[in-house]
Amino acid sequence: MSAIETEKELSVYESMAARFDVAARKLNLDDGLYKYMRCPNREIIVHIPVEMDNGTLEVFDGYRVQHSIARGPSKGGVRFSPQVTLDEIRGLAAEMTWKCAVVNIPFGGAKGGVVCDPEKLSRGELERITRRYTAEILDYIGPERDVPAPDMNTDEQIMAWMMDTYSMHVRHTVTASVTGKPLDLGGSRGRREATGRGCMIVCDQALKRFGRSRESTRVIIQGFGNVGSQAARLMYEAGYKIIGVADLHGGVFNSRGIDIHALLEHAHEAKTVKGFAGGEPIDRAEILEQDCDVLLPAATESVINSRNASRIKARILVEGANSPTTPPADEILFDRGVFVVPDILANAGGVTVSYFEWVQDRQGYFWTESDVNDKLKHIQIAAFNDVVRYGEKHNVNNRIAAYMLAIDRVAFSLKLRGIYA
Ligand code: GLU
Repeated sequence: MSAIETEKELSVYESMAARFDVAARKLNLDDGLYKYMRCPNREIIVHIPVEMDNGTLEVFDGYRVQHSIARGPSKGGVRFSPQVTLDEIRGLAAEMTWKCAVVNIPFGGAKGGVVCDPEKLSRGELERITRRYTAEILDYIGPERDVPAPDMNTDEQIMAWMMDTYSMHVRHTVTASVTGKPLDLGGSRGRREATGRGCMIVCDQALKRFGRSRESTRVIIQGFGNVGSQAARLMYEAGYKIIGVADLHGGVFNSRGIDIHALLEHAHEAKTVKGFAGGEPIDRAEILEQDCDVLLPAATESVINSRNASRIKARILVEGANSPTTPPADEILFDRGVFVVPDILANAGGVTVSYFEWVQDRQGYFWTESDVNDKLKHIQIAAFNDVVRYGEKHNVNNRIAAYMLAIDRVAFSLKLRGIYA
């Protein structure tokens, strides 16, 4: 990881709080509500004992932060990564509250994480970590309480283990306890592609504002995990010209456009986009600064910061990752006229289809893929328009507009509910 990428000017929670403060001030938020909404409802820290394949006992730290249940059960992913910290999970949990409010779905926000390196774990070890983590937080999760989902380095299989562990404890199958599950276990059609599809939907809306066509739009994507690879495939199939893609190991650049189907095949074999023959090699931090129309960071946080923001050449930034841009970089991008589609709007497709999955599980009735995609499109376009109009009306950038809109919605629910004493 390069210095630019790792150096954080503010932690994830501090970034969230800085934006929250700006939005709260503009909204004239009541002092009490300000204090209440700025910090999480509950933070759970667990230490997970796991028997490793070599017979030794290892202990992993795990977190689940529930920021808000004001608008419904808390909702948010679980990430497995050696870099996970409580501060990061705390910030991302709050962002989930704002994200669910921006797209107006009936959830609060939460986030979970386990400090571990999945690349160094066997499948059995991963399963034991997942099950014990789930057992440790079991009293605090469930379809009516808090509903986990995939996030960085977690997938459908891990969600299946979480759902099974929860179900074994309560003695019956509760598919709605977790979302992002395999299709055969109560998963939703379209969930796997949902975050990438949502990024494309908001990007289409941004293009409309600039009177651009997909075919004339050059896109660079940083990250080729679930979000980046699905966004790349869907956008490529829709006619966008993807000229650069990078992941943790390296990148590939081709100003004439990359054949994304061939790149997907390469990445499937090589487990990285690095070494793909259909373009020139490029460093994964450098790729952010290449000339393009749309930049889609879909990897990790703080990759666009005060040190590189002035060199970003894209006209439109679509934030597939959570928190990829720091608050100081926001100012620079805004001054330079970059149209930013903020994370809590751009990547909300995942949690939106998680909501659909939860609804389908509770109904026991499953929708067609086109039903899911149509409903997702409807919600994302409405949210995009809400944010952009709100920003125009209050003369703030899209990020602050999204925060203001979300905080206003959550504050309204809190006022209606009152404080239980
Ligand atoms: N981890 C995803 C996110 O950050 C999805 C969360 C969910 O589906 O609950 O939005």
